[in-house]
Amino acid sequence: MIDYHLHTPRCCHAIGTPEEYLAEAEAKEITEIGFADHFPLGLLGYSPRDQVTMNPDELAGYLQQVEDLKNQSSKVTVKTGIEVDYLPGTEEKLKGLLEKYSFDYVIGSIHFLGDWDFTHPVYAEDYQNRDLNQIYHSYFELVWGLCRCGLFDIIGHIDVVKKFGYRPSEDLEPLLVQTARILKETETCFELNTAGRDAPVGEFYPEQRFLELLFAEGVAVTLGSDAHSPGQVGRYFSEAVGLLKAVGYRELAAFEKRVKHAVPL
Ligand code: ZN
Ligand code: FE
Ligand code: FE
Ligand code: ZN
Repeated sequence: MIDYHLHTPRCCHAIGTPEEYLAEAEAKEITEIGFADHFPLGLLGYSPRDQVTMNPDELAGYLQQVEDLKNQSSKVTVKTGIEVDYLPGTEEKLKGLLEKYSFDYVIGSIHFLGDWDFTHPVYAEDYQNRDLNQIYHSYFELVWGLCRCGLFDIIGHIDVVKKFGYRPSEDLEPLLVQTARILKETETCFELNTAGRDAPVGEFYPEQRFLELLFAEGVAVTLGSDAHSPGQVGRYFSEAVGLLKAVGYRELAAFEKRVKHAVPL
């Protein structure tokens, strides 16, 4: 079992030491973990209202700390990942930055529509003042841009726009079908992110129907808890694995130095 989406306190909204996350993985018989803390937005020239990522001067320490964990367990393989916000217009800058470091994988995520952090509970009521169909279209257009820029191995929490339970009135299926196709075309992998179960929406990212469409397109999947505390490592994984198998998946994507390989589910 793999958990590729773990945070650290460096992003300022997670708790627990990386050693504690590793111990939790051992206890839960997870054989491979990857840290994917929030890449410093400051390096992309963006400073949101709230601090939601590590500071630029934290990155080197983060990488060293993950590196130091790699020989601390005989049972758990530790990978170096990062979760980067996809911000249109920053692609060239990001490309140069990512080349400077040796990541095993890069998760691309969308948390902002313009300057609105639509994943932040403090701004959740903004959904009520906006057109939900427009929000979903804008969100998925960003997903397409994320895939097409070619900088990311995995898309994080692919339908996180549903996080607070606001749904569009129009049928989402065409958008989801097109999104699945674009992931396939661009060879972008997605994660079954179990954190959504603990969000107001109460379901995984993506939900079952979207998962079925992604499987039908032949898009590779990996698994992540998006843990922001040690106890969340591997949350709901037995249910997640059951769901993946029910949909038809038999393997998970794993990464080493940004090269993908498959491991049995
Ligand atoms: Zn976070
Ligand atoms: Fe995220
Ligand atoms: Fe995350
Ligand atoms: Zn996240």
